[in-house]
Amino acid sequence: MISVERLSLRDATIGIALVSGLVAVALLGFSAYMFKSAAFDSQQKSVARVIEVASLEVLSQLDQRVFAVGTSLQARPEFRAGLERKLASGEDAGLLAALHEPFVNGYVGAGQLDLVKLRAYDLDLVPLAQNASAVELPPGLPPVLRQRAAGRTGADRLKAVSALWLSPRGPLYSVLLPVGGLQVKGYLEAVVDPAYNLGAVAQMTRMPVSVFGMDGRLLHQSAAPAETKDADLPVTYVLPAADGQSAFRLVGLDDVTQLRAEVWRTTAMLLAGIVLLGGLAAMAAVVFLNRFLFLPLRGMQADMERCAGGDLSATVNRRMVREFRVLADAFNLMAQQLAARIEELRLLSCRDSLTSLSNRHHFDVALALEWARVRRTGNWLSLLIIDIDHFKLYNDHYGHLGGDECLRAVGRVLAGVARRPTDIAARYGGEEFAILLPDTAADGAYGIAEAIQGEMARLRLPHAASPTSQRVTVCIGIASCSAAQCDSAQLVAAADEALYRAKHRGRNRIAVAENEG
Ligand code: GH3
Ligand code: MG
Ligand code: MG
Repeated sequence: MISVERLSLRDATIGIALVSGLVAVALLGFSAYMFKSAAFDSQQKSVARVIEVASLEVLSQLDQRVFAVGTSLQARPEFRAGLERKLASGEDAGLLAALHEPFVNGYVGAGQLDLVKLRAYDLDLVPLAQNASAVELPPGLPPVLRQRAAGRTGADRLKAVSALWLSPRGPLYSVLLPVGGLQVKGYLEAVVDPAYNLGAVAQMTRMPVSVFGMDGRLLHQSAAPAETKDADLPVTYVLPAADGQSAFRLVGLDDVTQLRAEVWRTTAMLLAGIVLLGGLAAMAAVVFLNRFLFLPLRGMQADMERCAGGDLSATVNRRMVREFRVLADAFNLMAQQLAARIEELRLLSCRDSLTSLSNRHHFDVALALEWARVRRTGNWLSLLIIDIDHFKLYNDHYGHLGGDECLRAVGRVLAGVARRPTDIAARYGGEEFAILLPDTAADGAYGIAEAIQGEMARLRLPHAASPTSQRVTVCIGIASCSAAQCDSAQLVAAADEALYRAKHRGRNRIAVAENEG
């Protein structure tokens, strides 16, 4: 059982293509085989028809020959006299001699006929005599011939009838002729063995033909006996007797060298055509799949991996087939939402929730970063620490919610003065704030501090509990330094110390750290 996770679309496609190819080849082989057998079947049927026509022609010629023998015999005075004597007085010597005579002295067309028996009948077809040959036949007219003869009326009684019939010794051919010209006195039946004549089918059809009895006995074989070659197709035709029973089996060997070659040529052309077209179709499919499926999929995979590696700006190329474009869109939307969410979280993790300034954590990170820059560039870095005066009293007077509102107001003031993109205003803790001013020396920092106090004065936020003024005021400690003068901890400590001094001098004061450059 293949697990779906281990299956690749490319491998599956190749697999399906291979299986389809194998099925196509098998179908091709099967249809080639069917085509060949259909061609040979049809050839067999048409050759069987040819044998049938030839054997009917042979029987027709045989009929004429036997008729000629019968006619010449019944025209002989000896025969007529013998018959008359037999009919008149029952004496058969003359008739017997006349019937036997052709077997002794020969007859018309001897050598073309295998005469088996001559028999005489009266007008009612009662047997009168037969020649005394070694061949014994059932007495009387063969039933099928009797039937045909009895069925005739009027002038038809003057015509000969003939039939191929089955005797115990094999199929025989009989012709029954009226004797006595216009005044019929009786009948003469000439019986021949047609097997010998059927050999002529070979000359007519120009192929080796073997004649078998229905018992399987070989009765005649054509002059050039066929030694069955590969290219010879045996074709069997069963010649029926007059009563419909099978009489002879004629087996011809048809030379199918040419047919075989044509079948092969056609099959090969068919194969070549299908292989060529199939190959072209397969190539087109490979190019198409590669261009529109596998390559875009590989690109999509790379884009997704880039994205999963942390590069959320990486988007999946959406120039793909419809189904994959939907996926790409979904993925891009997801990545976009994820990036937005991450940015939101990043901001949240950096912000102080009350004042929306940077929080202490962000301030520490920024200070470390800026300190590293100062050491690299040697530029100035200033730090302001701002503390609200008498804030405990403010809280006591206005309550904690009022205190919070005051903190927000001071936060807005600080955000307003720290305007450079690199300036960082942060809530340092409680009612203390810090502003980090990169590339700014002490005088610049002092200007910012004055701006803060100016803005606070302008705002005139009331502080009814303040012992120094009735307004909210702040004290600011400033420390500045450049590389190698101190370190970041010293900078913070210096600003803190300055703030302490500012507080000490009353409220609403600015103090600059004493050891700054
Ligand atoms: P000073 O003039 O010397 O600075 O006196 P002060 O009262 O401002 O200083 P102190 O350190 O004694 O009091 C600080 C007060 O700030 C204590 C606390 O109640 C208040 N405080 C600290 N954080 C918050 C806050 O998040 N919200 C509110 N409402 N008050 C706060
Ligand atoms: Mg304080
Ligand atoms: Mg205070």
